Amino acid sequence: MINKLCIIGIGLIGGSLARALKQADYVKHVVAVGRDIQHLEHAVELGVADSFEMSISKAAADADVIVIAVPVGAMKAVFAELADAIKSDAVITDVGSVKGNVVCDAREMLGDELSCFVPGHPIAGTQQSGVDASFAELYQGQRVILTPLEETDATATQMITKMWHAAGADVQSLSVEHHDEVLAATSHLPHALAYTLVDTLAQMHEHREIFQFAAGGFKDFTRIASSDPQMWHDICLNNSDALLDVLNRFSDDLSNLTKAIESQDSDFILKLFQRAKAARDQNC
Ligand code: NAP
Repeated sequence: MINKLCIIGIGLIGGSLARALKQADYVKHVVAVGRDIQHLEHAVELGVADSFEMSISKAAADADVIVIAVPVGAMKAVFAELADAIKSDAVITDVGSVKGNVVCDAREMLGDELSCFVPGHPIAGTQQSGVDASFAELYQGQRVILTPLEETDATATQMITKMWHAAGADVQSLSVEHHDEVLAATSHLPHALAYTLVDTLAQMHEHREIFQFAAGGFKDFTRIASSDPQMWHDICLNNSDALLDVLNRFSDDLSNLTKAIESQDSDFILKLFQRAKAARDQNC
């Protein structure tokens, strides 16, 4: 049970965690922090938070667990404010979709407090944003990856593991580097492709017709291009090395497909599609 939980960024991910923990009776008081007072008042009206603060240091001062749920590009400033503000036995975690850069920021800003930081990433979400989109069941049966550091206190990791279990999630550990490589391939690349596909089509002069006649496949493939642009901008720039590796590999494969279509290489095209279908049917 958590006495006081401070959630910095009470949007889809932070709000859903608060709802899930309240539903499970795992938290006594949730204090929300953000930039916009109307968003915070709304979170309290909805019952997602019990109170709010505009100041990170005030909200965190007596919190037992602090969850940072802002876009990854905004985390460094949050760590800087937390460094001198937390009580000695508090635990900090984050939900950022990238771990390498977030860990660098935490190392730089938290200094001696680094041992209480447990980096995390729930593998759950939707294309919607904000506290109105949050719901208590978001993490039910979903995975959360923790990437504890050498310096991370084992009791802090246990505390965050228990918190995610209470929210209904399964918890796994990975190294920071492995997390960023895997997520670049499975999440960051598909988002970059979906945004680019929609943008390419939207710029064609027949774009109205294209979208008018878009069938289920197009909608399935591009749903994630409705996600928050700022969030995905931050993710692409903060995981650029791993994303570029897989993006370059994909570009090579796409140009091989382009050449095969130009040269009417039926065998190449059919084999590629058969391999992809088999891999998807077997693994997804
Ligand atoms: P969201 O719904 O937009 O919520 C983000 C929250 O952060 C908002 O409450 C916003 O509140 C606050 N915020 C935004 N920019 C800020 C800034 N510069 N400084 C301080 N606060 C700021 O986004 P989300 O989907 O919950 O994503 C939050 C985090 O979860 C991100 O790090 C993302 O990488 C990670 N994540 C997202 C998903 C997903 O599918 N959405 C899945 C896993 C992990 P105010 O505007 O009121 O300040």
